[in-house]
Amino acid sequence: MKKLERLAPPPEWDNSKPENQEKLREFYAALSPEKSIPDHWNEKNATGKKPVRERLLTMSNKHCAYCGAPITDSTMHVEHFFPKKPFTEITYAWLNYLPSCEACNMRRKKTFCPPSLEGKRIIDAVLYSPDAEPPPDFIFDENYAVHQATADRIIDPSYDNPDEHLEFDAFSCEYQHKTEIGRITIEKIFAQMDTKILTDLSEEIRDFVKDGTPFERIERFIKKYGYEYVGWKAYEYWSERFSATNKPQ
Ligand SMILES: [Zn+2]
Repeated sequence: MKKLERLAPPPEWDNSKPENQEKLREFYAALSPEKSIPDHWNEKNATGKKPVRERLLTMSNKHCAYCGAPITDSTMHVEHFFPKKPFTEITYAWLNYLPSCEACNMRRKKTFCPPSLEGKRIIDAVLYSPDAEPPPDFIFDENYAVHQATADRIIDPSYDNPDEHLEFDAFSCEYQHKTEIGRITIEKIFAQMDTKILTDLSEEIRDFVKDGTPFERIERFIKKYGYEYVGWKAYEYWSERFSATNKPQ
């Protein structure tokens, strides 16, 4: 799992602009428990582009933020890091969006909600007023208060540094945890993956390195295959191993 730099929101979702704040508040006001949640994050702008989807794909260089699988606009799911149910009041918060593959969104993480957040109220900063009743437990903004307070969640690679929570063993192609957050991430994402795809990747790279394949070709292969984080770790591992073997005695 790779650290992602959270990009600024696309202009249409920049809530420092009053007109966008107004629009977001209208989206929230129209939510009702009887109706399904409108996916405004998938909507096109005036020029026919889907700004949220485009920005998320750029942010991750077209990889799933969790497992690293390659994604495109047609296969990407806009994943809500904290699930939109029960946290409807952060449904339209840019900072809660991550690009993900279908498997991570629909089958692996699904609607996982950290148990410590059950019954808590998290609200988008655009909805906050000091007189709000009942007062929210967390205001959702760039202070990431809810991330900091929650120790039983998974890694948010746009906020956390995955290396602090996980160790990757390039030989077995498995993750080991360093923290509780890392442990839950493995349980929810990596333990549910078919690791053959990762061991195949590692073996391909082993053969490339062994055969002395030019670096540029290996780099192209890793970018095309996806799971870039794993690909580069495997490259480091096999390069070290083969150079150690070739060293003069
Ligand atoms: Zn994925």
